[in-house]
Amino acid sequence: MTSPLLPTYARAELSFEKGEGPWLFGRDGERYLDFGAGIAVNALGHAHPHLVQALTEQASKVWHTSNLFQIPEGERLAKRLVENTFADVVFFSNSGAEANEAAIKMARKYHAVNGHPERFRIVTFEGAFHGRTLATIAAGGQAKYLEGFGPKVEGFDQVPVEDLDALKAVIGPETAALMIEPIQGEGGIRTVSNAFLRELRNLCDSHGLLLIFDEIQTGVGRTGKLFAYEWTGVTPDIMAVAKGIGGGFPMGACLATAEAAKGMTVGTHGTTFGGNPLAMAVGNAVLDVILEPGFLKEVERKGLLLKQRLAELKDRHPGVIADVRGHGLMMGLRIVVPNTEFIAAARAEKLLVIGAGDNVARLLPPLIISDAEIGEAVKRIEAACAAIEAGQQSARLGAAQ
Ligand SMILES: *Cc1c(COP(=O)(O)O)cnc(C)c1O
Repeated sequence: MTSPLLPTYARAELSFEKGEGPWLFGRDGERYLDFGAGIAVNALGHAHPHLVQALTEQASKVWHTSNLFQIPEGERLAKRLVENTFADVVFFSNSGAEANEAAIKMARKYHAVNGHPERFRIVTFEGAFHGRTLATIAAGGQAKYLEGFGPKVEGFDQVPVEDLDALKAVIGPETAALMIEPIQGEGGIRTVSNAFLRELRNLCDSHGLLLIFDEIQTGVGRTGKLFAYEWTGVTPDIMAVAKGIGGGFPMGACLATAEAAKGMTVGTHGTTFGGNPLAMAVGNAVLDVILEPGFLKEVERKGLLLKQRLAELKDRHPGVIADVRGHGLMMGLRIVVPNTEFIAAARAEKLLVIGAGDNVARLLPPLIISDAEIGEAVKRIEAACAAIEAGQQSARLGAAQ
């Protein structure tokens, strides 16, 4: 039967009935260990009791009022985000791309109200992913996402990561901001060096540019800090957040200093759904858990455990795993064979992992993953490696005959 859904996704032949913590129960009767977490979204796993309670309680009170009225749950969530970050103000959106759109508009408006409307260009970095709206595909700069959608939105320049000379060469009188993911997610779990991020901060300071961090994937505890910038010694002016912040409820946020946000006055930006009471209730509940004393330390410890176990696997299976990379519970395996083959082999072992650029398979388990479940995932990855090696061996034997 053909699907009435727009066929923009190559979906696996698999659907799920329910979830519990890091486990998903497939309609095929199998239980899957979820090391994708909905692409780093289900930060607290599936059906977390505290989130279920927050959502259902709010659902019986009020779902939506519009941003024409006060939303106390949103005030509270914004206050908590501000207290725990560099930021002074927060704009809530429905998605990551919209959080980035807010960041881009804010950076341009900042210069406009400073008397420099000609400063609208934003420098981004090769391998970036910032979303699928017209502006964010231009920001990401990937030909495969731009092709066929008309002229690329004007005002984005792209240089290679870690190439300081190229960056300096592209900054000009029209430049407004630099925009970067501290660890590229879709690009293949590629960590940007702290030294390079420091150079970005210095360049921003010396040229009067704003520094935008896209922490949509790295944020909300994923790397073992609330936000990845805390590892880097560098503070952005504007930060886009989404994915984990809603634990599976669609929401995003654009955080900024008061200075960077000074152009965003009444009427300059808006959203119908962003920051609605349902999203805010769940966002607060996610923070309740992640800000519990010791929670992030545990993420850090479990990240190190996972990394160590993956490094052992790489040593045992060099024909399948070429490289282990990432930070905290945002790990990537660069795969020797096509990563799609590895992802299918893992799925045959009832382990869900996600592809990324650079032939990487991403491991993004829920942050509540236990040591035993990490051990279980490692066992299943090992089995997937063995299955691929067995296939390679029989292919070699077949070729020799
Ligand atoms: C997922 C992602 C986005 C886009 O978020 P959507 O919610 O899909 O719009 C943008 N930037 C980064 C770094 C992401 O990982």
